Amino acid sequence: MAHLNQRRSENVNGDFYVDTTCIDCDTCRWMAPSVFTAKGEQSAVYQQPTNAEERLAALQALLSCPTSSIGTVEKPEDIKIAQSSLPIAIDKNVYHCGYHSEKSYAAASYFIQRPEGNILVDSPRFTPPLVKQLEKLGGIKYMYLTHRDDVADHEKFAAHFHCQRILHREDITSGTENVEIQLTGTDVFSSDVFGSDISGQSPDLLIIPVPGHTKGHTVLLYKNKYLFTGDHLAWSKSLQQLIAFRDFCWYSFSEQTQSMRRLLDYSFEWVLPGHGRRYHTDTSTMAQEMQKCLTWMENA
Ligand code: SF4
Repeated sequence: MAHLNQRRSENVNGDFYVDTTCIDCDTCRWMAPSVFTAKGEQSAVYQQPTNAEERLAALQALLSCPTSSIGTVEKPEDIKIAQSSLPIAIDKNVYHCGYHSEKSYAAASYFIQRPEGNILVDSPRFTPPLVKQLEKLGGIKYMYLTHRDDVADHEKFAAHFHCQRILHREDITSGTENVEIQLTGTDVFSSDVFGSDISGQSPDLLIIPVPGHTKGHTVLLYKNKYLFTGDHLAWSKSLQQLIAFRDFCWYSFSEQTQSMRRLLDYSFEWVLPGHGRRYHTDTSTMAQEMQKCLTWMENA
């Protein structure tokens, strides 16, 4: 809960504010860009919401802030409307969960609703309003974890939804040793990991190992359209291109570069990362951007 007596002086006057506990995770700035901006090494409100749409986005950011650093002077009577608006549909049956967790340094997590069983991609905060909404959407059959850092409340989700968790064995730690499905090797894993019968049909889910950020990092490609990239790949707002995080690479940047080259073989329209900005374009432009990212990495 944000505290008014810790309100940053950089905020404009008005109802919404950011307090001094902000960890500069960027979440509020991309969720409600007309309200929040960077001021120094933390966020601040630069313009109060001017309409219902902006207010809803600001409240969604308030709920998603991993450190509860966003507050309102007046008690928000419409908070339940914002709670019921999360997860937010990104496209068709693919959602952004919101409720980022400080345990995963505010990584975004996603939800795929599908007849064969819903998939939670990485872990949001385990909080009753989100759990209720996920129940309404049909619960969780699989919890796919891109890598060891963004697992946050995986145990609570597994216990509540009785879902099967999936994580590469190279990224298993003492906190994830009970993960039900532990992947091994660097071959691509097909839909059968998710219990699908793939005979006679092209798989709509592929798990692609991309060692680099961590040794066991993988990405999930859904319907040759949505690539869930964890901390492997993201859009940089400042560079205006796809990037990998060289300063936050815990295993090997040269291996990560090799892994990025591997992704050139795949076609997709969306990059949906844990950290950094998401990116959407047509497959042809995405292919060009991926090549540009690879060239940038090779020269980094
Ligand atoms: S979401 Fe919270 S912690 Fe992250 S930048 Fe905004 S105010 Fe700071």
